[in-house]
Amino acid sequence: MFRIIDPTGQGLREYDPWGAGWFGAERPGGRTHTGMDFKCTPGQVVRCPVLEGVMVGTLRPYDDDDTLLGLLLRSTQFDIKMFYVDPLPELIGNKVIATQPVGTAQDITRRYDIRMVPHVHLEVIPHQGSYCLEGSTLYINPKLILGGK
Ligand SMILES: [Zn+2]
Repeated sequence: MFRIIDPTGQGLREYDPWGAGWFGAERPGGRTHTGMDFKCTPGQVVRCPVLEGVMVGTLRPYDDDDTLLGLLLRSTQFDIKMFYVDPLPELIGNKVIATQPVGTAQDITRRYDIRMVPHVHLEVIPHQGSYCLEGSTLYINPKLILGGK
């Protein structure tokens, strides 16, 4: 069975003035949250949340800010995106395994303000062709596959 583990070890972001960290939580503009937010301490190590995968590359969650980064991990069944993580560059293109350090948590609160709970965003996307919804992206609730130590 496919599992993910908490990449920061700090658990779910609960309510702050911008919303909550669980899958489906409300966001401004009528959107819903497509992932799960794990609390973090900016600068801390972020660990690989899947048993085994390949670190495909670096992501830029915001078009207007090229300092906030993320990473894409590809496993056998899912793609995992994590945002507000500065990836270890030497891992790009290489295999990574559960709990291995993959990057450093960034400080997302600097885009908002200090009332936001610092966190790493994690989202799970099934591979195209198996579960894809036409014209949009299908996301899996990470909580459903969260487990293990
Ligand atoms: Zn999030």
